[in-house]
Amino acid sequence: MLADVVADKYLMREHQLYSVDQIREYIAPFLKFCQQHLDLARMPRVTLVKKLSGMGDQPTFAYYNVPENSVRVSYENRHIADVQRSLAHELVHARQNHLGQLDRNSGKTGSPQENQANSVAGEIMRMWAKQNPDLMK
Ligand SMILES: [Zn+2]
Repeated sequence: MLADVVADKYLMREHQLYSVDQIREYIAPFLKFCQQHLDLARMPRVTLVKKLSGMGDQPTFAYYNVPENSVRVSYENRHIADVQRSLAHELVHARQNHLGQLDRNSGKTGSPQENQANSVAGEIMRMWAKQNPDLMK
């Protein structure tokens, strides 16, 4: 899954919040942490992209693709912790999908699935920060 994490080194250099090595260093163990916490047997393919085009005017930072079991997350001008929170959120959707809990209304603001993804992502970030205080600075 990590082969997909950094898609384009040249694009990375334009908005250089983090080096490629730093992103690998931060994201790889975090994905493992999420996988364990969420008990994900089938880890989605994760791809970091500079910017995601949203629906209409709505900006999108990340999404989970159900048929592909894949996650895309944007990194441009975002703090690594923000990227990680997005990843955790989308991985909760992956778990919901594996459990057959997603339907066509799941993506709507305020749906039970959205609320669960937000709250579990918050829990994961708190546990992660506790175990990795140095990475959160
Ligand atoms: Zn969501």
